[in-house]
Amino acid sequence: MDNIKQLDQSYVAHTYARFPVTLTGGQGALLTGDDGKQYIDMGSGIGVNAFGACDAQWLEAVTHQAAALQHTSNLYYTEPCAKLAAMLCQRTGMQEVFFSNSGAETNECAIKVARKYGAEQLGPEHFTVLTLKNSFHGRTLATLAATGQEVFHKDFLPLTPGFVYGESGDLEGIRKILDKVPCCAVLLEMIQGEGGVLVQDKAFVQGLAQLASEHKLLLMVDEVQTGNGRTGKLFSYMHYGIQPDVVTTAKGLGGGLPLGAVLLGGKAAGVLTPGSHGSTFGGNPVCCAGAISILERLDDTLLAEVTAKGEWIRAQLEGAPGVRSVSGLGLMLGIETERDPGQVLADCQALGVLPLRAKNKLRLLPPLNIPNDLLEQAVTIIKEVCAK
Ligand SMILES: *Cc1c(COP(=O)(O)O)cnc(C)c1O
Repeated sequence: MDNIKQLDQSYVAHTYARFPVTLTGGQGALLTGDDGKQYIDMGSGIGVNAFGACDAQWLEAVTHQAAALQHTSNLYYTEPCAKLAAMLCQRTGMQEVFFSNSGAETNECAIKVARKYGAEQLGPEHFTVLTLKNSFHGRTLATLAATGQEVFHKDFLPLTPGFVYGESGDLEGIRKILDKVPCCAVLLEMIQGEGGVLVQDKAFVQGLAQLASEHKLLLMVDEVQTGNGRTGKLFSYMHYGIQPDVVTTAKGLGGGLPLGAVLLGGKAAGVLTPGSHGSTFGGNPVCCAGAISILERLDDTLLAEVTAKGEWIRAQLEGAPGVRSVSGLGLMLGIETERDPGQVLADCQALGVLPLRAKNKLRLLPPLNIPNDLLEQAVTIIKEVCAK
């Protein structure tokens, strides 16, 4: 209905360049537009609907909890919150979890943990967090400052102080910064998602972990996009043979409901004390019940399927006409196209496939359980459109 687009354009703040599609429903990896047209979902929101639209098990979990109790303040115990925290810790070796509602909020919490740790363990001048250029950590004022991309900074100066930026791959440069600036933590994505689906080099990540350890800094990994099975491991740091002190995650965790989690272990365990942080909605029982139903199914079989599907997509697209390169891991892939990616995306939409963009690439984040026949149809169309 044009009416919906007009209403939206009149009354919703113009922060999003929306596509000309109104979505009304969906089932699994298929989405329906208001004109009845069906689309194959190659974005899962932005890596949020981990098991696609209205997944039956997830729906059962959230409706059951919504009918029992939709919210309590964090002054009381609830089962979904406690159970989810235990599951996350048992599967990661982390020791405790703080729940929030979004990716940016999880990184805000991580930055607060880092500052408190620095002040208590290293000295009051150790408040700076080292992040990487081309990173993305969120849009609140502190996470904007953590984000190493000037395009996000402009118009919002002055930035929150206490951040320095290193270059991915440049351990020597980072060593020099750390020798000069008293820091409390390093924060990085294993795959820079918004930055263009760029996978960090293993030797660099291990070297950075070593540098952090030498300087007694917290090693903090932003798994907002890469977490919860997306890359073929439960968390992407598990590909790298490192054990972070802090892991932040959100997007796919709630299966479509707003939920973020900050996993604390190693040097970060015990830093948060009563009154030092909080959230009214954080750990909402409906969101946590949904997350439990997601996490329960992220077993070795499912993760192996994610890996296999990712490898299959890569084999189809690497070297295909009009495709310059394919990057990423598991079902988080970036496709560099010869044609303008905006045009490629529009052509895909017209043919009933909904991918995403990241910088100069098409980005694919399909539901983790996308059926093979739909995946084949979608990739056939993407290939066709790239070759045009
Ligand atoms: C999406 C994203 C965020 C921000 O998450 P919001 O839920 O939008 O606040 C932070 N870090 C990374 C790596 C992300 O992909």
